[in-house]
Amino acid sequence: MNPIDRLSEIFSHFPGIGPRQARRFVYYLLSRDQTTLDTLVRSVEDLKRETSQCNECMRFFNGTGSLCSICADTSRDRSLLMIVPRDADLDQMEKSGSFKGRYFVLGGSLPILEKEPERRIRIRELLTKLAREQSTLREIILAMNANAEGENTEDYLRQALRKGDTFAESGDNSPASSLTITALGRGLSTGSELEYADPETLKNALLHRTK
Ligand SMILES: [Zn+2]
Repeated sequence: MNPIDRLSEIFSHFPGIGPRQARRFVYYLLSRDQTTLDTLVRSVEDLKRETSQCNECMRFFNGTGSLCSICADTSRDRSLLMIVPRDADLDQMEKSGSFKGRYFVLGGSLPILEKEPERRIRIRELLTKLAREQSTLREIILAMNANAEGENTEDYLRQALRKGDTFAESGDNSPASSLTITALGRGLSTGSELEYADPETLKNALLHRTK
């Protein structure tokens, strides 16, 4: 495969990018000077080296270590856990400044009729984390996008959480029985994605979350 085809093939796997757009990217790069290309290559090389993934919330962060600044922050409310589809959604929610709990980044959402959910989202990691935090956790907030995929993911998560050994029909006295699952209120207009929601909307959606 020649370099043009090879790079087009790589770009075509980027989210939302088809083969034609991928090829346009390649021709764009060809039109740039060598310094720009060198900077791009260096940035790609540094990306994994200078970025770590948090062991607790699974987000990517700049720096080294096993915990991101949010998970390492002891002043955050450990009884609240918000589940978001992607890193960008977490960033947006943080920007709104209205949430003081902690997060878990699912790594995506589930299209309707997805056959292998566990390959698309970090459901296993989530259930493991929840089992570990049973005694401190009081509320899980499902913060999904307000579209069909988001609803589908929410349904799947509710089922998985109910089924998960973690909170299975445990006796009334167990800590898990006091765990509540809520979802963001629909201050978010239908079809909207968290990543693009403004801080005020996110704040209201959080305030008006529902069971
Ligand atoms: Zn973290």
